[in-house]
Amino acid sequence: MTAELNGGGPHAVHLVGAYYLDALDDREAEAVRNHLDHCAPCRTVADEMVETIAAMAVLFEPDDIARAGEADADEDQEDPPPD
Ligand SMILES: [Zn+2]
Repeated sequence: MTAELNGGGPHAVHLVGAYYLDALDDREAEAVRNHLDHCAPCRTVADEMVETIAAMAVLFEPDDIARAGEADADEDQEDPPPD
């Protein structure tokens, strides 16, 4: 069950970020959930990660989203000329 967690050490810390970004498959997510259930250090890291993600979300305003959309549109038109 936890075999895939052992690749990066005995803890799931390296997978917690991907877990919260929903970037793991069901089996990996389940393994991280199980690990967090019984591993206090990883839970602490996970809690801090969630707080950090929440704090970052507060930094962004609706204007930033509009600007990010414009930046994406610019990128499409901005092909560097060949030398
Ligand atoms: Zn752990």
